[in-house]
Amino acid sequence: MNCDVFRDLLARSFAQMARTAEQGSRTVQVPKEPLDQPPLTIHTLGARELRREARRVSKIDEATRDLARDMLRSMYAARGIGLAAPQVGVPKQILVIDLDIDEAATPPLVLINPEITATGASLNTYEEGCLSIPKVYLDVVRPSTIEVNFRDENGRPRRLKADGLLARCIQHEMDHLQGVLFVDRVTDELSLNEGLQQQGFERQHVLSIR
Ligand SMILES: [Zn+2]
Repeated sequence: MNCDVFRDLLARSFAQMARTAEQGSRTVQVPKEPLDQPPLTIHTLGARELRREARRVSKIDEATRDLARDMLRSMYAARGIGLAAPQVGVPKQILVIDLDIDEAATPPLVLINPEITATGASLNTYEEGCLSIPKVYLDVVRPSTIEVNFRDENGRPRRLKADGLLARCIQHEMDHLQGVLFVDRVTDELSLNEGLQQQGFERQHVLSIR
C-alpha cells in the first residue's frame, strides 16, 4: 500500500469515527445567542397550561431532543436559566437548565423524569424569578441541597448532588412539573401582592400551598 492511499484511508476512517461520535452523543446544544423569533411560546401566570401535572416520558428519542433544543432556544431568547416543558404547553417531565448562558461552550443540562431522592436538612432563602411571571422576583425558602435522579437527553440514567443555584433551579423547575409556581411558595404576602400588581398579574392566579 502506498503512503497516500494509506493516508486517505486513515482520513476517511477518522471522518467516519467523528460522524459516529457525533451521532452517538446526540447533543442538544444550540447556539446561546438570543433569537428574535423563539420557536416556542412561554405561558404566563394565569394560563391553565402552567397548572397541569406533567407526565413521565416513556421514550427518549430524537423528538424528545428536538423539544429540548426548542426549549433551550426559547429559554436563551428570554435570557432565562431554566425552563420546564409545561411552561411551553407540553405536559411532559422535561427540564432544561443552563446556569452559564453567557458561555457558549458550556453544555446545558437536560433532566427527564427527575426525582428528588434526598434533601439536605438546611434551608435557605433566595430571590427567585420565573420566565412565566416576568419581572417578578420574590424570596422563597427551600432546602439548600438535593440529590436528584433523572434520565439525560440520551436516555442514560444520571444521579446528581446539587447545591447553591443549581439545587435552587432544579427544585423550581421540578415544581413546574406538578403545576406549582414559585409564587405559590412565597410567604411574604405584602411583597407578593405588590410584586404581582406592579407587573399586571392577578393575585387570584396564585395557589396557596404554604
Ligand atoms: Zn419557573
